[in-house]
Amino acid sequence: MLVNEEIKLDYSDVLIRPKRSTMSSRGEVNLERTHNFLWSKKKWTGIPIMSSNMDTVGTPAMHKVLSKYKLITCPAKHHLKKDQGKFKKGKANTCWFGGIDDINNLAKTSSGFIGLDVANGYTIKFVDAVKKLRDKCPDATIAAGNVVTADMTQELILAGADIVKVGIGPGSVCTTRIKTGIGYPQLSAVIECADAAHGLDAHIIADGGCVNSGDIVKAFAAGADFVMLGGMLAGHDECDGEVENGVMKFYGMASESAMSRHGNHNAYRGVEGKTVEVEYRGKADDTIKDILSGIRSACTYVGATRLKTLSKCTTFVRVNNTHNTIFGME
Ligand code: 5GP
Repeated sequence: MLVNEEIKLDYSDVLIRPKRSTMSSRGEVNLERTHNFLWSKKKWTGIPIMSSNMDTVGTPAMHKVLSKYKLITCPAKHHLKKDQGKFKKGKANTCWFGGIDDINNLAKTSSGFIGLDVANGYTIKFVDAVKKLRDKCPDATIAAGNVVTADMTQELILAGADIVKVGIGPGSVCTTRIKTGIGYPQLSAVIECADAAHGLDAHIIADGGCVNSGDIVKAFAAGADFVMLGGMLAGHDECDGEVENGVMKFYGMASESAMSRHGNHNAYRGVEGKTVEVEYRGKADDTIKDILSGIRSACTYVGATRLKTLSKCTTFVRVNNTHNTIFGME
């Protein structure tokens, strides 16, 4: 047994120090990025924020609004088998994720990206699956995850992933850390995995744990090439589900709700997700505008004219959350 004594950080453990800037308005900030992918040799341009491939937010209606802003939708997995057509328009801005059993279906999709997405990306079986998907689809831009450390980021890239999805346990409806004790503080995971991926000319997605636009800024500042959102996109008209008494249901894909809906209970698969009620927030359009305006504003505070340079312009300062908790400060 080993204990790593280094301090590892979550988004809430840091702030970003403001810096001198020549910019006069947030309108000058360009949030679009162009990514060139290692194995597929393809290029993608857009705003690198994606909806999570969860039932509630990975919907055709969400895709319609996200593509308007050049954001990416990861459709919920159940759409893979029957209604891919609903995501056809703007398909360059879709990323279809599936599990190891979905390799054949994924290979048949025509979309911007495809990906393999499992709770634990550390198994040999998973690495072999990434290799298999790469062999089947040499020209596809492939994402794979989830992992939280540099070694496994590199291994997945060498197995054929262009993009590695980073995050174990930070999700708003995830109970992995509570049930298993497994996890890694998300800001440090993003910093360490981005460093490993960029050294190989590959990319990462910071997946989970963003609760406001400031967290998305911190993820990009830490080196994320894409940021994936679940909870922040929940509770909108474009989500799957009904509004009841001013709230909507939002559930994890390993929750009892998801398992009952998709009938995938089995003796070994434990529940590692929960169902929560989130406030109904109307149109996703307003939330997206609000998020993009927060990121633009952050860029002006540090003098980054483009999202691309945000990370270079960033100095994080640690904040003492223990103190805030003790004294009840927000
Ligand atoms: P959020 O943006 O809501 O904080 O996090 C979304 C991410 O949480 C998803 O993209 C996915 O990686 C993760 N997630 C979704 N459902 C579950 C679940 O039931 N259990 C766990 N452990 N993680 C989940």
